[in-house]
Amino acid sequence: MSLTYINLSREQLLKELERVLSKERFEHVLRVEKAALSLAKRYGCDLLKTSLAALLHDYAKEFSDATFYQLMTDYQLPQELLAWNNAIWHGQVGIYAIKTKFGLKDSTIIEAITYHTTGQKKMSLLAKILYVADYIEEGRAFVGLDRVRALAKQHLDQALALQTAQTLAYLLKNQYPIHPKTLETYNAFLPHLKAIKSTNLKETL
Ligand code: GDP
Ligand code: FE
Ligand code: FE
Repeated sequence: MSLTYINLSREQLLKELERVLSKERFEHVLRVEKAALSLAKRYGCDLLKTSLAALLHDYAKEFSDATFYQLMTDYQLPQELLAWNNAIWHGQVGIYAIKTKFGLKDSTIIEAITYHTTGQKKMSLLAKILYVADYIEEGRAFVGLDRVRALAKQHLDQALALQTAQTLAYLLKNQYPIHPKTLETYNAFLPHLKAIKSTNLKETL
């Protein structure tokens, strides 16, 4: 089966992912694809695009810092990126390697991968699905996850809002720097956070 949006078959892509990713990361990617496809069916998103976005989203996760610096130089990316690290680079910088390596041109898939870690103000259905699926995939386990999983089946925007609030709380608690896009996502989806009605969905915050 060809993946249409890239120059490889699914089989070839899986081989390439196995080559560049650790076993754990590769398995995470497959679980994100599964979670994303389930959301895509529920909310009516293109299944092929969903698969591809999920399979490629962490392609750059194990790149070295030197590789990210090289990409930032080659593509003359904004200086602000230098203040961050792998957590932000594997999406926002990694996407340039992904586009080149796989001949990926679809702007919706590109945007979903670029901002899969932080989200942003305006997100396509595909971007929302990738962002939430990455968080709720069945291999993850942390406080508050069950609530996002349950919400994801009812109201994607509310799940996204709660996930962002929980990520923000985690970053604050650990004194990690907050990326402006993470804050932007929190602010944009705050109305949905406030709209979460059910019993104690917000109790972990
Ligand atoms: P993963 O690549 O599957 O591990 O998941 P993500 O791409 O969603 O997240 C990568 C890492 O970035 C996680 O450890 C998040 O907690 C972290 N992260 C998310 N938002 C921010 C942020 O605003 N600032 C920083 N410093 N880290 C963040
Ligand atoms: Fe990631
Ligand atoms: Fe991931």
